[in-house]
Amino acid sequence: MKILLHTCCAPCLMAPYKHLSQEHELTLFWYNPNIQPYREYLRRLRAFREYTRRIGARVIEDLSYPLEEWLYKASILSKKSNVLRCKFCYADRLFRTALKARELGMDAFSTTLLLAPYQKHELVKELGFSIAKKVGVKFHYEDMRRWFDESEDMARKAGIYRQGYCGCIFSEADRYWRDKLDF
Ligand code: SF4
Repeated sequence: MKILLHTCCAPCLMAPYKHLSQEHELTLFWYNPNIQPYREYLRRLRAFREYTRRIGARVIEDLSYPLEEWLYKASILSKKSNVLRCKFCYADRLFRTALKARELGMDAFSTTLLLAPYQKHELVKELGFSIAKKVGVKFHYEDMRRWFDESEDMARKAGIYRQGYCGCIFSEADRYWRDKLDF
């Protein structure tokens, strides 16, 4: 099957690519306007480029970065709940991936967001299937969490940059700021 695999970052790509490419023809899709600040975005993009060149993967990059619009929407939702904010963030990336898959005549789309246990797995899965229906391209679901430790290990061995937080400034604050500083 020809799959357009949305890739959130290089470390989360490694084991999924290794396993999925044994059965499917993968094209990787970079679209991650949720990564802040911009220097961090560039750092993760460079890691993605470095690794995909190393393995000779087919890649498509969408480098859209609508910072004001993204932060405006995410801030409103974040005040209500983190789940709503992440739902918007997942849906934005999955929808763009599904549209690209349809444009390219792919059989299906999927995402490496299904790898990390700290992502809202059921929400990503649910959104994947509902967006597939709307766009008319199959969503290829895999419970990639079984490959998480392997992927982490591969990233460590490959010397690829591994980030410390999910992506947006809210997740950065959750990781490094809230309840952690003692002034
Ligand atoms: S925590 Fe992660 S998934 Fe949730 S909004 Fe931020 S970048 Fe997106």
